[in-house]
Amino acid sequence: MPNLINEQIHSSVMPTYNRFPITLKKGKGSYVWDQEDQSFLDYTSGIATCNLGHVPPTVKSALEGQLNELWHCSNLYTIPSQEMLAKELTDHTIFDQVFFCNSGAEANEAAIKLARRYAQEIKQTNKYEVVTFNQSFHGRTLATLAATGQAKIQSGFQPLMPGFRYLPYNDKEALKDLVRPETCAVLLELVQGEGGVIPADFSWVQELVRLCKENNVLVMIDEIQTGIGRTGSLFAYEKYQIEPDVISVAKGLGSGFPIGAVLAKDYVAKAFQPGSHGSTFGGNPLATTAGLATIQTMMNTELLTELEAKIAYLWAGLEDLANQSSEILQLRGRGFLIGIEVKGKAIDYVNKARDEHQLLLLAAGESVIRILPPLITTKLEMDLALNKLAAIFVQATS
Ligand SMILES: *Cc1c(COP(=O)(O)O)cnc(C)c1O
Repeated sequence: MPNLINEQIHSSVMPTYNRFPITLKKGKGSYVWDQEDQSFLDYTSGIATCNLGHVPPTVKSALEGQLNELWHCSNLYTIPSQEMLAKELTDHTIFDQVFFCNSGAEANEAAIKLARRYAQEIKQTNKYEVVTFNQSFHGRTLATLAATGQAKIQSGFQPLMPGFRYLPYNDKEALKDLVRPETCAVLLELVQGEGGVIPADFSWVQELVRLCKENNVLVMIDEIQTGIGRTGSLFAYEKYQIEPDVISVAKGLGSGFPIGAVLAKDYVAKAFQPGSHGSTFGGNPLATTAGLATIQTMMNTELLTELEAKIAYLWAGLEDLANQSSEILQLRGRGFLIGIEVKGKAIDYVNKARDEHQLLLLAAGESVIRILPPLITTKLEMDLALNKLAAIFVQATS
């Protein structure tokens, strides 16, 4: 394959992405390799997707087995791996039933449809409104970009789908206007990922959930970025000690194989009946085999138990760094979803980390560097990453 970027060949792919100037051809664990065989420490996990690292052996062998059996099977038939993954997900959460789809946006679409249908068919009301928050990110389909509280995501796509209202995030005063007569659900991230790595305040979330329960409004948590171990527990709602009615999941669920899911309590799940929602590929044998191996690896090993100590170690190193560098304004996030707010442009640091230190990082907005290490990362790799970051920030400071 030619290196399209470096050779500046005209691309036939629509220009919806700013591409970085390297082309990756291989991944293993915490590392990826480019076409020149240069290795990079991937502290983005392919944007919170490869939480078990690249090409995790357990998922690889499960997929290899399934590749020899059956790739596609219509949802007109029972799919055993889909049943098993749903059982794993409900066994390890407070939820009772799962709907499978293929991406995060589709998971949020399904959650929004489920909330409306629950209000209209089960509760027999005419409620329809879903409250979301400023700086949120819920996807790129017409409904989910309308749910997203960011003007830049919505620009050029008017008219927006009606039925959403946005409130300021972490604002206790604003909760006074949380519930209106038409409100059927609230949809939020517990750490806003794309919006700049902003964790929700614990007491604000408690108050929000209390208001929802009091007013029969569904609490729907977008766990697409925070889920699958990212914040230290299987899902972030556990850390907030809340009981949502619905969560949406995608990114890390298939270790890189496309899959999305909506998990719901039984009273909400029954709003979906044969014919009310569906997907050709959703929950197909390959995707759910990848998901099943991912969840089993996460729950049947010491990974999550060992994660807390890793998280503490990396945060301590980053706090040291923040204390030494005047370039770092704030360190925030939860678990392995980490934001470093910097004085300059985040993208300049991201480019420097990649080009001069072979460390892959992300930006979240103008001024926040986002770090998403794979959960399988080792102390040695964390030391390496911290040394690379020290070189970047110490140099920037002097
Ligand atoms: C990535 C993301 C989405 C969208 O997922 P896609 O698979 O890209 O559709 C939605 N919500 C959150 C919080 C995300 O991080």
